[in-house]
Amino acid sequence: MKIAFIGLGNMGGPMAANLVAAGHKVIGFDLTAPPPEGVGRATTAAAAAQEAEVVITMLPNGQILRDVAKEVIPAMQEDAVLCDCSTVDVDSAKAVAAMAAERGLGSLDAPVSGGVGGATNGTLTFMVGGDAKSFEIVKPLFDVMGQKAVHCGEAGAGQAAKICNNMILGVTMIATCEAFALADKLGLDREKMFDVVSTSSGQSWSMNTYCPAPGVGPQSPADNDYKPGFAAELMLKDLRLSQQAAESADADTPMGKLAAALYSAFVETEGGKGRDFSAMLPRFEKRSRT
Ligand code: NAD
Repeated sequence: MKIAFIGLGNMGGPMAANLVAAGHKVIGFDLTAPPPEGVGRATTAAAAAQEAEVVITMLPNGQILRDVAKEVIPAMQEDAVLCDCSTVDVDSAKAVAAMAAERGLGSLDAPVSGGVGGATNGTLTFMVGGDAKSFEIVKPLFDVMGQKAVHCGEAGAGQAAKICNNMILGVTMIATCEAFALADKLGLDREKMFDVVSTSSGQSWSMNTYCPAPGVGPQSPADNDYKPGFAAELMLKDLRLSQQAAESADADTPMGKLAAALYSAFVETEGGKGRDFSAMLPRFEKRSRT
């Protein structure tokens, strides 16, 4: 397939490289990042999109996505599909789908889970919103870049799934960290705590797979001095998106709200910027009450 790839950063670069390795022709555009080997370089986003059957975007936020979509949609082929893989607010995802529909183009919001490791190894999970026909067209590309693609529903449903998932992740990580800090104060050995909780009803991905306690459980960023991994500021971004969505949908999400406030303080005033989101554990070790 002929593919345009716009946004070749930490995630987009390796995703585009995997498409090339699978035999697709990829033309890339990024304001700063150089294209990986085998990916052609266009001088503008519109130029990259002109001949493509699928235009993939992997950009920092909703406003940038809207700006790029405005530029790219008029340049696209009649039957091409726009597939955004960034994590953005649900409203931006819907607005971009509406822009594409106005020109009669199919579009998908297809955010990912799995981080830079998943992008590099082609093991991402895609959660996808948009029309079924576009999903079928892009599915072979999801299969190259990832191991699972779930069609979640109409435009915006992919972003909805992503921010709900990450709200659970933020909340369970905080709960796991504060429980370890409490266990310390109660004199409970961390290994024993892991052994019990990871096989009991308190288990979660945060405990079982990404344990925030160094030296406990499988390898995780905690074992590498909390170098990300998944940076705390990216978790904050996603928690803010879920609060923004909760606000506009009038949903009651008190735990998500508190998680957003705790990550906001952690990133902005407590030195958490640039650290993995599981570095909440040393934060709770230092501060017993907020
Ligand atoms: P990144 O900052 O490394 O890459 C974004 C790229 O977009 C940059 O190279 C930047 O130059 C480029 N860009 C910005 N404006 C542009 C424009 N107008 N035209 C063309 N290119 C432009 O970020 P990333 O880590 O690759 O993340 C990309 C998206 O994926 C984000 O929405 C992020 O939330 C999401 N995401 C990231 C991870 C992760 O672990 N890094 C995991 C899941 C989802």
